[in-house]
Amino acid sequence: MKYKRILLKLSGESLQGGNKNTNIDPAMLEQYAAEIQTVKEQGVELAIVIGGGNIFRGGQADVLGIDRVQGDYMGMLATVVNGMALQSALERHGMYTRLMSGIKMEQVCEPFIRRRAIRHLEKGRIVIFGAGIGNPYFTTDSTASLRAIEVQADVVLKGTRVDGVYSKDPEKFSDAVRYDRLSFQEAYEKNLNIMDMTAFTLCMENKLPIVVFDMNKQGNLLRIAKGEETGTLIS
Ligand code: UDP
Repeated sequence: MKYKRILLKLSGESLQGGNKNTNIDPAMLEQYAAEIQTVKEQGVELAIVIGGGNIFRGGQADVLGIDRVQGDYMGMLATVVNGMALQSALERHGMYTRLMSGIKMEQVCEPFIRRRAIRHLEKGRIVIFGAGIGNPYFTTDSTASLRAIEVQADVVLKGTRVDGVYSKDPEKFSDAVRYDRLSFQEAYEKNLNIMDMTAFTLCMENKLPIVVFDMNKQGNLLRIAKGEETGTLIS
């Protein structure tokens, strides 16, 4: 395996699948659990950050007359809901997991303690980081970068609906060009939308590679863990 310890970032929206009538599609949970299991079975240590966009985003607060900071906390709680759902799906597949939260809620999950998170990973437990970093004005992408650095992950794998980074939005422009590899500098200069700036800068400054890939294509996660060229590698 190319990577021994991976931080996988999944968006909240991806849990919806094609089904806009529900926040969490059981088929997506099942699919993700199966993909994650294939990597886990190879002895790879896995931490996961999942977003909350399928339930609530801080950016939606304004139109509802809700204060931004309040909205951000609502978004963070949404990530815990998704984390709990994913945790159950992984456990159904027989994997050992821990959900650690950036906001204390001890009846539901452990508080995030860096040393303890590393210990869980060493023991082969999948650690899901919920509630972002616990602060408003951040995103789960920033959470993914920060937690990856904290637990010394080898890479951040950003699961998306597209198979890598393109010169422009491939869902809108047919002449968009896909990149196999990029340096942080190139990605920055070309202003490519890989992660928000905070998240991107954290990775760049700490030399933490990012792979953007299509999480919905069967076998992709394992392919990347093995070091096969899938998606776009930013390093
Ligand atoms: N959020 C936050 N601080 C964090 C992480 C998340 O305030 O450290 C809030 C933010 O409002 C964000 C929401 O949680 O809009 C949901 O996360 P995100 O939008 O990143 O989820 P995704 O789009 O990946 O599903």
